[in-house]
Amino acid sequence: MIRKTRLFTPGPTPLLPAAQFAMAAADIHHRTPEFRALFTKVLSQLKDFVGTSNDVILLSSSGSGAMEAAVSNLTSPGDRVLVVTAGKFGERWVGLGKAFGCHVDVVSAPYGQTVSLDEVKAALKPDTTAVFVQATESSTGVRHDVKGIAELLKAEKSGALLIVDAITGLGTTHLDMDAWGVDVLIGGSQKAVMMPPGLSYLAVSQRAWDRMETSKNPRYYFDLRKERKNAAKGESAYTPPVSLIAALGASLDYIAGQADGDLKAGRTKLVDNAETCAAMTRAAAEALGLKLFAPKGYEAAAATAILPPEGVDSGVIVKGLKSKFAAIVTDGQGEMKGSLFRIAHIGFFDYLDTIAIIGALEQVAVAAKLPLPALEFGKGLIAAQKVFAERVK
Ligand SMILES: *Cc1c(COP(=O)(O)O)cnc(C)c1O
Repeated sequence: MIRKTRLFTPGPTPLLPAAQFAMAAADIHHRTPEFRALFTKVLSQLKDFVGTSNDVILLSSSGSGAMEAAVSNLTSPGDRVLVVTAGKFGERWVGLGKAFGCHVDVVSAPYGQTVSLDEVKAALKPDTTAVFVQATESSTGVRHDVKGIAELLKAEKSGALLIVDAITGLGTTHLDMDAWGVDVLIGGSQKAVMMPPGLSYLAVSQRAWDRMETSKNPRYYFDLRKERKNAAKGESAYTPPVSLIAALGASLDYIAGQADGDLKAGRTKLVDNAETCAAMTRAAAEALGLKLFAPKGYEAAAATAILPPEGVDSGVIVKGLKSKFAAIVTDGQGEMKGSLFRIAHIGFFDYLDTIAIIGALEQVAVAAKLPLPALEFGKGLIAAQKVFAERVK
């Protein structure tokens, strides 16, 4: 049979055709009125997409560049910072904090779990200057309680900034940066905004801008204050990836178009979409007798992490989906390789994509004779159909 290559990965995610066309057409110089109009429009749209009145800074880098910028712009050598981690991306915060000379306290949970607020409270010190966390830990499919952590910092009257890697959280989970008091919220282009890698963005609170006046870690290319000054004039400090910025504008137009041009409402729809795809996938996996990695209530809608049956390497499923259907799902990252596989729902996924990957998973499971007593064609699909019918009227 013909096999169409399809990504079911939590970044890069499938590309929006309108974004691809916009990239191809973006033959403009970056020191012109045309570019300034585009850049100003995209920065304003990003505020609505993030859901904040704070300024949003756009950087030419993958998501990790914005994570590094948050650390370099907001900390000083010797600062005591707290990282909440339960996966590969949380560990990246630890590495970044150490690279910039911070004293890094870590509150961690095993892969597949999240930390309790009591543990965060116990780890928070009077001299903690910043708390770093993921909204959703893409390596395990687990959502952290960002709102709870924000409330805890307020209740403790902590002076620590709250810095959230929402690179797979934006567009898949409801976040209210301003109301909760999040200081930095980070996103990346190859995730919910349905375009290629290469751009990252950060929404930055007034408290965080104030911190930059005294923070001492070195920064040059990723100097957020310099970018903010230039952005006020419709420009970036250095040559920006113009084509990617055009693509981002097209994607944000598309998301707004889902709700009659209202980008904030469109973002809510995008989150609901991911949640429905995720709920269908979870129901299907469980109906087939597969176990989910994330605890109930803390599943990330960005991606569903599914455990293979005992004694089976998840690579069997990952490779089966690829060779039989050209469907790309991700295995576990690092030491989780072989012990789980992840199906993404972040960005440009719909009902048909979700039904298709569940059908393909059934085919691979039956062909590989996975040791699942409940395994039977259609069981996963029926469960997913019911979830869809219940959620989408
Ligand atoms: C994708 C991702 C990142 C960024 O990774 P890059 O490869 O630098 O884009 C960071 N955090 C999370 C949670 C992610 O999913």
